[in-house]
Amino acid sequence: MSREDAVIVDNLRKVFGDVVAVDGLSFEVKSGEVFGLVGPNGAGKTTTLRILATILRPTEGSVTIFGRDVVRETKDVRKMISYLPEEAGAYKYLTGYEYLTFMAHVYGVDKTALEDGIRLSGLGEALRRYVSTYSKGMKRRLQVARTLMVKPKLAIMDEPTSGLDVVHAVYLRNALREYVKKYNITVVLSSHNMLEVEYLCDRVALINRGKVAIIGAPNQLLQEFRAKNLEEVFVKVVGDA
Ligand code: ATP
Repeated sequence: MSREDAVIVDNLRKVFGDVVAVDGLSFEVKSGEVFGLVGPNGAGKTTTLRILATILRPTEGSVTIFGRDVVRETKDVRKMISYLPEEAGAYKYLTGYEYLTFMAHVYGVDKTALEDGIRLSGLGEALRRYVSTYSKGMKRRLQVARTLMVKPKLAIMDEPTSGLDVVHAVYLRNALREYVKKYNITVVLSSHNMLEVEYLCDRVALINRGKVAIIGAPNQLLQEFRAKNLEEVFVKVVGDA
């Protein structure tokens, strides 16, 4: 392992009954990188992120996060990560502000973290309202803010901007990019939005049928595949599968 490696996924396999969700997946993420997982429905992205987040155990292979094994050193890993699941709930009977305050307390972070959370959410006055009154996109923004404001060494985010309108997705991407670079937070995220991935990610892995099909910096992939955008690359690699 080089000192630079934040995440090493080595020959990872995850089997559910007779479904092979992840089938010998390997990739590395450097410290401070924003790394994207893209791929068709059912490719194994969420399963991989859940293994990184110590929610699921691998069937075979290994994952280390900043040198710690997700199975043998789960506790140490959990101290370094913050995980945004695909569908995250919030506490309905708290206001957005109370929710962020509560989470700041749970993670034992300082007041600046709460201020960062408020800014990242972009929810403004709506933070005074109960979370139960929020739209889907507003809840998502609150959850993304919660995930990042605690300044984890590694943020694991499953489709962070899903359900957001264009204006708020753009706001959040800009805020996220600026924030993680400022605090040197490594990010592994999944997305179906190729524009987002091109903008946000330093490198991207295209996962197909549980394996890495291609990996590289967005620009490098565009050149390699003589494509105008990542959507074209995606379609060329995955085809009509
Ligand atoms: P999407 O883009 O649709 O979110 P994904 O790439 O995140 O897809 P996964 O959710 O990781 O894909 O699923 C990979 C495969 O594993 C799918 O065939 C899925 O049905 C299967 N799978 C995932 N979780 C389970 C589970 N708990 N039990 C059984 N099969 C599962």
